[in-house]
Amino acid sequence: MSIIASLIRQNRLLTVILPRADGPLNEQLFMDEVPEASLDVAHAILVTHSLISLHWPGAIGVEDASHYNNFHACHPKQLPQSGFDNILKPLLARNKALPSMNADVAAGHVDGKWDSSCPSDLVRDLVAAKFNIHRSFFNSSGDMCFCESCHKMSGNKTVYSRGIPPSRYAIPIGWVRIGLKVHEGIAESNEIFKKWHISYHGTTANNIEPIFRGGLHLLKPGDVALGGAAIGVRPGHIPQVISRTNRYTGMEELFDINQIFTSPSIRYASHPAYAQQFIVDHPQRPGVLLGMRFVFHCRQRPGSYKIGHETVGARDIKLDPHFDNNELEWYTKESAGVVLFGLCVQLRYISQRTTK
Ligand SMILES: [Zn+2]
Ligand SMILES: [Zn+2]
Repeated sequence: MSIIASLIRQNRLLTVILPRADGPLNEQLFMDEVPEASLDVAHAILVTHSLISLHWPGAIGVEDASHYNNFHACHPKQLPQSGFDNILKPLLARNKALPSMNADVAAGHVDGKWDSSCPSDLVRDLVAAKFNIHRSFFNSSGDMCFCESCHKMSGNKTVYSRGIPPSRYAIPIGWVRIGLKVHEGIAESNEIFKKWHISYHGTTANNIEPIFRGGLHLLKPGDVALGGAAIGVRPGHIPQVISRTNRYTGMEELFDINQIFTSPSIRYASHPAYAQQFIVDHPQRPGVLLGMRFVFHCRQRPGSYKIGHETVGARDIKLDPHFDNNELEWYTKESAGVVLFGLCVQLRYISQRTTK
């Protein structure tokens, strides 16, 4: 798997800056020759259906693409026409869709609606039917339904603070949480449930089983996944860090995208750019389609992560009423400092099987 594929295994929105064929290489992220990089990108997009924006200085071919998110041009010699039609065009369409995705997230409704019924039994049935997950991973005492009706009846607030020092998180309203077992020795020796913060990590259906099988560890490029697949790194393929202004700290920083990303906001963690819907048939009602989305509920070690601004181009659109856009992303290289204690699932009725 290429470095790019591994980076976007977490469904991160990346800007891939490919080297100029003719110019200085100071902006480049990848040391590859251009053709290899372009194949990596195309392959990665194809495999993961993820969202990437391309910045390809000096290339030619797409004249009207400047209004798309960070996309300038596609080099016709490097990417076959089929690749452009099948891969880049849908990708550009999705990049173009980002503003409306952001508007949906900000309005609190994404990809379909739900009714007043409690979806928790249905979620449990669907997870059991669609995924091969050993039952010993689950911890029913951590099960909790946060659907609209259950939330109303609970009388809970929407935002709580957890950990030492305390850190805010929003409870997953509209979602059903399936409790996951946390190793008792790890939990007790680190006082995880007393001291650690709470965050969310959005994922897609095809990542669920590998994450469970691998012991509920979130991987980043450079790690070796269970089964021996190296996540990403070959010599010369390590991306350099990106220089950016962190809008949370206000400081210039070298931002390394080779990290694990979480958020205190389930709205942000489940942004459709990161956590795409998994479309299934309703098990009891023929012809009815359901969209499932998945977000892991995490405990995260205070001090192990940094805080930064949203990276979906939302800018002035406030994505979550409980958080500033500039505090929505947590990022860390400390995999062991992220402990997954719940799988949150959202169900929506959807009208059609849209292809993404
Ligand atoms: Zn460009
Ligand atoms: Zn419920």
